Amino acid sequence: MTPEHDSFLRAAAALIGETYVRRGFDAEPYQRDWRGRYRGEALAVVLAANTEQVAALVKLCRASQIAIVPQAGNTGLVGGAIVPEGIDAIILNVSRLSGIRSVDRQNNSMVVDAGCILADVRDAAHRHDRQFPMLLGSVGSCEIGGLVSTNAGGTGVLRYGNMRELVLGLEVVLADGTVWDGLKALRKDNTGYDLKQIFIGAEGTLGIITAAVLKLHPQMRASATAMVALRSVEHAIALLQHVQDATGGRLEAFELMSRSQLDIVLRHNANATSPLSRDEPWFVLLELADSAADWDAREHLERALDSAMQAGFVVDAVIATDEAKAQRIWELRHTISEANKREGFTISNDTSVPISALPAFIARVTARLGQRFETATICHCGHIGDGNVHVIIILPRAQYAGDAAEHAASDANTIVHQESVALGGSISAEHGIGKMHIDRLPLYASAIELTLMRKLKQALDPDGVMNPVKVFRQPA
Ligand SMILES: Cc1cc2nc3c(=O)[nH]c(=O)nc-3n(C[C@H](O)[C@H](O)[C@H](O)COP(=O)(O)OP(=O)(O)OC[C@H]3O[C@@H](n4cnc5c(N)ncnc54)[C@H](O)[C@@H]3O)c2cc1C
Repeated sequence: MTPEHDSFLRAAAALIGETYVRRGFDAEPYQRDWRGRYRGEALAVVLAANTEQVAALVKLCRASQIAIVPQAGNTGLVGGAIVPEGIDAIILNVSRLSGIRSVDRQNNSMVVDAGCILADVRDAAHRHDRQFPMLLGSVGSCEIGGLVSTNAGGTGVLRYGNMRELVLGLEVVLADGTVWDGLKALRKDNTGYDLKQIFIGAEGTLGIITAAVLKLHPQMRASATAMVALRSVEHAIALLQHVQDATGGRLEAFELMSRSQLDIVLRHNANATSPLSRDEPWFVLLELADSAADWDAREHLERALDSAMQAGFVVDAVIATDEAKAQRIWELRHTISEANKREGFTISNDTSVPISALPAFIARVTARLGQRFETATICHCGHIGDGNVHVIIILPRAQYAGDAAEHAASDANTIVHQESVALGGSISAEHGIGKMHIDRLPLYASAIELTLMRKLKQALDPDGVMNPVKVFRQPA
């Protein structure tokens, strides 16, 4: 800590208040990522309370040549909200910006601060008889700023799209501390470039999101959830198309899980039970829903699953008879990350391929990973309706620690990414690049794509203060 750092921290405390400039023990929870894989030392963790404070801090950081790592709920899975090694930076956490500014039922929109927790946003929409359909396992901790900045996906993408499709407007503090008020609640607006889309998915490298206008949907009043056992991924895809055709766009979620993954969830979650026997290698969890209360979701689901069984691509199925049982089925899906963390050293991948290429992709990665890691448990789960399957390699901790673990992760990622890209896929479907894949992006993005990204960064953050050494490295 230099005298310049001391005077910077005093100035930050004068702006934000001493209590909200955290260091040492108080800063620790913010300096590690959710998986415990990355840690980075910040000069301080600063918890701003509103847009004005964020803007004042950005100006102060710029004047003091201190970098800024934006952070919301710190549930990101690629190390994006962690301070990089050797950089003088603060973590600027937005969790205190937690207000619901307004809800417009007629316009089906709401304006929320960047630190609003997803579960609170969903509850607020619900109270106004509307739905905010973003849903993922971190729902109780992740916040709007992080969701927007990672262009998060989750189980609702199939029907409602990812965050990019759920945001109508943004308020952003730019790298020079000015505030861009783009909080428009319009569905049609072709006045020049769509600036909000530049910041969505930018992982905090272009500016700090302080508020967003979110798109709301009608609340679902009729729903039915089922768990289905299948013999192959091909059958899962056949079932997806069958249910989509049979139910006219009412498919709310369609998630694939391998038996290896289900076994791990059941081993580590004492409350979890499987309503189906574990004889088949693949399972699908699916939900139909409609906003009309008198739509008989259960009957439609029964009919669709019956005909799928007759066609031979469903072995067994159970439909939840009440909401509590439906929640128990979904708990199997939403506790996967937590269970895997307990099982061993987890290398998780977040690739997507065209849906038609999923069977080949899964067969090829599983074979190659099995050859490379004899002691690994290889699991698959994910949003199969979006072509986004997480390939998860779990290694015994006793065998893989420190450098051995990092080396294994690198090899596993290489195998999964090579197979995905060979089939026309992406190395990051919904989690982003962050720190984890920074040296992989140049391997898979074209030269022109990298040049355009660097030009954008240079234009919006010429001094490189916004989340440095994330997404890509700036040339020296
Ligand atoms: C159990 C579990 C399940 C998950 N399931 C899914 C899933 O199904 N789909 C999915 O997409 N993700 C999933 N995730 C990953 C994670 O929850 C998402 O990436 C989420 O969007 C991160 O939100 P956050 O508020 O925690 O952001 P953080 O982790 O705090 O930050 C994420 C990134 O956004 C940047 N950032 C944060 N706030 C701002 C801001 N205000 N302005 C600018 N940049 C900012 C950070 O610098 C970082 O690069 C899961 C994570 C867990 C732990």
